[in-house]
Amino acid sequence: MDVLVIGAGAVGLTTAISLAEAGLSVTIRTAVLPEQTTSVAAGAVWGAVKVGPADRVLEWARAGLEVLSKLAAEPGTGVRMAAGREVSRVPLEPYYWTPLLADLRPCEDSELPDGFADGWHYTAPLATMPVYLGYLRARFERAGGTLEVSPVASLAALAGAAPVIVNCSGAAAHDLVPDPAVVPVRGQVVIAANPGVEEFLINRDPEPPWIVYMFPHGDQILLGGTNDEGNWDTEPDTEVAERIIAGCAAIEPRLRGAEILGHRVGLRPWRPEVRLESEPLGGGVLWHNYGHGGAGISLSWGCAAEITRSVLG
Ligand SMILES: Cc1cc2nc3c(=O)[nH]c(=O)nc-3n(C[C@H](O)[C@H](O)[C@H](O)COP(=O)(O)OP(=O)(O)OC[C@H]3O[C@@H](n4cnc5c(N)ncnc54)[C@H](O)[C@@H]3O)c2cc1C
Repeated sequence: MDVLVIGAGAVGLTTAISLAEAGLSVTIRTAVLPEQTTSVAAGAVWGAVKVGPADRVLEWARAGLEVLSKLAAEPGTGVRMAAGREVSRVPLEPYYWTPLLADLRPCEDSELPDGFADGWHYTAPLATMPVYLGYLRARFERAGGTLEVSPVASLAALAGAAPVIVNCSGAAAHDLVPDPAVVPVRGQVVIAANPGVEEFLINRDPEPPWIVYMFPHGDQILLGGTNDEGNWDTEPDTEVAERIIAGCAAIEPRLRGAEILGHRVGLRPWRPEVRLESEPLGGGVLWHNYGHGGAGISLSWGCAAEITRSVLG
């Protein structure tokens, strides 16, 4: 084995694919299967929210946009190009990374829901995470990789296990590294039958810990959500789910009475800065690739490429 990757969320899988497709022999060790990770709860639209530092994020976001846009053109990846709006009741400035979006434009008044004052409209890659994670796992295995469900108790104990180890443990890095700078930002979402919504919508009103958004995925729609900092609870909360549904239905009345199909909870691995750097471990190298906050799906390909370039020298 040339490389051991810890973690099979979006970050671990894309890192492992990038290394395996470069010709290296890669094994993933993960505590849970991809469909049980935080990554499966994501919306998941391309964007760089709740993540830093801005200069490195911009490059990772650019790389992620390119790869995800290509995947959107391939059948079976779970990724498609989707149109949608970000709206607010107060004036809304585009983010520093929105110039990467080719068709970003201000919303027409007729495109703003009742009571909203500002917003923009754009097209971006949108991933249906259960499908996308299945695609990533299959692609990794096609490249010769092996995935083992086998929790790692300590990074130090892995010395000598492989010349290169990559730590993609998400919020669990808080204890595994240990790294107190990593804080979980709990996100709960509701999966409902889609009453015919075609465009995604994100309400950017600053109302922490609440945020209202909806992402259509064919005959289902993912409704959110929460940004609950410091909360490690991965069980769905019924009252939170009811508030999510009411918040979305207040903006999109067709959601009133929609059939509820499921609930998901994920812990965004928030850190002031993504940790993407290496350190010696035994005679080998330990890479860290965690702390992607609210943008791990969007940035993961860029981070993976940076590690692969360094590993290949
Ligand atoms: C509700 C919600 C909505 C989101 N929306 C978006 C969005 O629209 N766009 C976007 O880009 N991002 C979004 N995100 C953020 C994104 O989901 C995360 O940044 C991303 O999933 C982090 O991926 P990860 O692989 O680092 O972590 P995870 O998915 O948490 O994976 C961590 C992996 O490490 C493994 N692991 C942990 N500890 C150990 C151990 N001791 N031994 C072995 N394995 C271990 C776990 O089993 C798991 O496989 C959203 C997140 C949430 C919760």
